[in-house]
Amino acid sequence: MYGPGEYVPDVTEGITDVAELPRPCRERRSRNYAARRCPHCGRSARRYGTASRNLHDLGDPRSGRPNNLVISYSKHHCRHCGCYFACDLSDLALPKCQYTRRVQQVAVRLVVEDGLPYRASSWHLWRDHRVFVPYATIQNWVEAAGGKKIETLSSTYLDEALANFSGYLTIDEVYDGPFCILSVVDNRRYNRLAFRVLDHKPTRRDVLAFLREFKNQLDRRVLKVRGITTDGSSLYPKVLKKLWPNEPHQSCEFHVKKEIVRAVLRALARLRKEMKAKIPQLRRGRPTKQQQAQTRRSKGLQQRVAELFQHRHLFVRHHLSTAQKKSLKKLLRGQRQLRALRQIMDEVYRLFDRRCKRATALRRLDKLRKRVRRFKRLRRALAKLNSPNLEKALVFLDHKGLGATSNAVERSNRRFRKAQKSIYRVRTLPHVQQRLARDLHRELRACKRAQTLKTLHRARSAPISAHL
Ligand SMILES: [Zn+2]
Repeated sequence: MYGPGEYVPDVTEGITDVAELPRPCRERRSRNYAARRCPHCGRSARRYGTASRNLHDLGDPRSGRPNNLVISYSKHHCRHCGCYFACDLSDLALPKCQYTRRVQQVAVRLVVEDGLPYRASSWHLWRDHRVFVPYATIQNWVEAAGGKKIETLSSTYLDEALANFSGYLTIDEVYDGPFCILSVVDNRRYNRLAFRVLDHKPTRRDVLAFLREFKNQLDRRVLKVRGITTDGSSLYPKVLKKLWPNEPHQSCEFHVKKEIVRAVLRALARLRKEMKAKIPQLRRGRPTKQQQAQTRRSKGLQQRVAELFQHRHLFVRHHLSTAQKKSLKKLLRGQRQLRALRQIMDEVYRLFDRRCKRATALRRLDKLRKRVRRFKRLRRALAKLNSPNLEKALVFLDHKGLGATSNAVERSNRRFRKAQKSIYRVRTLPHVQQRLARDLHRELRACKRAQTLKTLHRARSAPISAHL
């Protein structure tokens, strides 16, 4: 029904002569008044002259030409207080700015919402809106916009973000060069609530100061915390005990599982090495009949070790497909140690099953630890199973709403890291703060944007169904 989309490059690509660029349309506007009210004393002030101002506006994408607004405006003199002023144009453009507000808003949205780098947004503005803004100018606008957003963070932003607060928090820190960013995220709604940028490694005192301020904000709105999830860092337990002594504190399940998976893989590597060492070495030269059989056997063993390496992930995966189960069975044939390793992993996954209570899980964990202690060679490799973090990661079993993972906060950290890596690196503390503030606001509005898209979809599909 529809043809394929076609990639057509912009017609202005490669132009070196300024004269070849599309000529701008001129749109004349008048703000010429005989008298205006004086901004100082409020009385009427007569015009004494006129001037004109040239503004770059969004161009016309259909004709492919830029659009310039030429505004003639009146200049006034107040006889009562002696002040000189020009007719107000601030609804069109900021004072001394060459671009209309529309252009500024589109440019800032491109960077903040779509995450475009400055240079790419500069090209985007020219290609799709036929207005050229140097990328350094865009950068200035975006940074200024971020500065404004910071001011609203503890007031209007928090009001909106906490409007349907779930009571479950997750807290984490992310490091970037000399900076460290502490953030608090709602663990059910996944929206960020507060952050603080430090220019040093965080201490408990920093964390305490940050969380205390956040707690004050909650208290002011009469909101209650019901549970907190963090990673296994030693920064939090004492601070959280102090601020929220009765609320459960969960250590992130993923962080603990990750350690155990790594330990199991390491134990597997050790077993593999042992198997490899047992393979008899073959002599050079033409083998005798007897040696031929030996060769076949050692080739088989070698292949087995190679397969074990290739399919090592089957030992740590939680859910296995039928085909994966089959190939795992083949790998485990006749290997007691390997089978035990997979059983340990199964047991670990069972510990985190929401259906059982914490007491049951702890009992199982105790059994598991005793079992691991019996393995002479694997005991050291599996020492992670004895870490106290494992018990802390089971707290969520007794609290229905408590998030088992700190994924909510990790997600926002990932976004920050991605921006630092591939979009534009921010190197100063105020700029880091500005970027985070902008990002928080962008995130808060995400659901509204999705809603609009949905409405648009519905509006588009309605006439089609009417035709049918
Ligand atoms: Zn006046």
